[in-house]
Amino acid sequence: NVSVVLFTSDLRVHDHPPLRAALDGAREVVPLFVRDRAVADAGFAVPNRLAFLADCLRDLDSGLRERGGRLVVRSGDVVREVCKVAAETDADEVHVAADVSGYARRREERLRHALEAEGVRLHVHDTVVGAVDPGAVSPASSDHFAVFTPYFGHWSRQRLRDPLAAPRTVRVPDGVGSEELPTRDGLSGLSPGLAAGGETAGRARFAAWLRSGIAAYEDRHDDLAGDATSRLSPHLHFGTLSPVELVHRARRAGGPGAEAFVRQLAWRDFHRQVLAARPAAATEDYRAKHDRWRSAPEEVRAWREGRTGYPVVDAAMRQLLHEGWMHNRGRLLVASFLTKTLYVDWRVGARHFLDLLVDGDVANNQLNWQWMAGTGTDTRPNRILNPVTQAKRYDPDGAYVRRWVPELADVAGPAVHEPWKLQGLDRAALDYPDPIVDLAEGRERFLRGRTGTP
Ligand code: FAD
Repeated sequence: NVSVVLFTSDLRVHDHPPLRAALDGAREVVPLFVRDRAVADAGFAVPNRLAFLADCLRDLDSGLRERGGRLVVRSGDVVREVCKVAAETDADEVHVAADVSGYARRREERLRHALEAEGVRLHVHDTVVGAVDPGAVSPASSDHFAVFTPYFGHWSRQRLRDPLAAPRTVRVPDGVGSEELPTRDGLSGLSPGLAAGGETAGRARFAAWLRSGIAAYEDRHDDLAGDATSRLSPHLHFGTLSPVELVHRARRAGGPGAEAFVRQLAWRDFHRQVLAARPAAATEDYRAKHDRWRSAPEEVRAWREGRTGYPVVDAAMRQLLHEGWMHNRGRLLVASFLTKTLYVDWRVGARHFLDLLVDGDVANNQLNWQWMAGTGTDTRPNRILNPVTQAKRYDPDGAYVRRWVPELADVAGPAVHEPWKLQGLDRAALDYPDPIVDLAEGRERFLRGRTGTP
């Protein structure tokens, strides 16, 4: 008998419950990836993520070939393609990972319906995309946790399943047709400093992180210039690394750095359970309804291009353009700047992030934007991050700004955070804009809007 394994956000062979279950139950399996037309139609197939995905698929194919198998790639409507492959191979089961977005859940429903009509069973596997799935922990009075701290208390007490080893052999039936694997060639508009994708690269990065990064994470995770976070987010987004395995191995490493890192992984599950309970939060205000946003096209353009006149904001926005990735402290700062100081709708910022981020993820992106905009789960929705104070704190010497804003490369020390204070010729020599907004005015405008005072 034959089983089909549909790979989605889980592009790996290690710790892969659907692959393991399929191999346990069948003589042969068809590892399948469908380049889903609906994802492209919804505007999610952007160059940076397509490039990373191409790396991931090629590496997954290699991982399967080392075990005697290969990856089958098709394009089109995902449900139709799965049904076709199941019919061609006379498969009696299909295995897939559970996922949380509204789209992923509709896909699962459609798959179940279509496969049942053909007499094929669909198996949906938990703890593949997240370490602790939505619903595994829930509060007494609601269907999900709206505040992170109590969620984390429950999350930490969960007993995680043991990680699974990669299979030794994968037998694929002869003659199953596959498209060529995608490549990066021909993709235009890629960020020049984009990271490489794939399970091999992800596992190497995680091993290096355990050896020489995690111990200092608690102290250094907010240090913009130090760049001392794991940079595993694209691997978690595409599932080239398993969150269950990461939590186990980080806990084994132990220490305050590992604890702080595991806590960030819990944030990921936290947002996933919010989105699972409130799929509309991908596009609508989660908690506080808000409709007074300004339309400020010129200011938004300056923000996108990294020309706001606030060096740390501009540095972070240029890092995003250059790498398709941004440091978390930068993400917080630029999101506060857009939604609070400029008072522009969080959806405008979230869309720009999704257009570029290699880790761009509906749950993490939309809900972190809402958190910072004050419409989401932040218990202090009116906090405003001052970009100058934050810059002095998290980039004390100004090295992050000088790295990303070459116009300021010659300004030494923390003075780089306030170029408007430079005197005479020093200021005149800089080809760098004046601030597009006064911070105090921005703050007033936001707080007035929030309380509804005209
Ligand atoms: P590390 O600090 O090494 O953390 C380890 C892992 O924990 C990350 O890879 C990530 O999977 C998870 N994590 C860390 N912080 C968060 C968080 N606040 N929420 C959820 N998970 C977290 N993360 C995404 O993966 N995709 C996004 O689209 C995304 N958009 C964001 C938008 C905004 C406005 C903000 C403020 C944050 C966003 N984040 C997003 C969360 C966070 O900034 C990134 O996960 C992190 O910067 C990735 O870098 P890292 O892998 O080095 O993180």
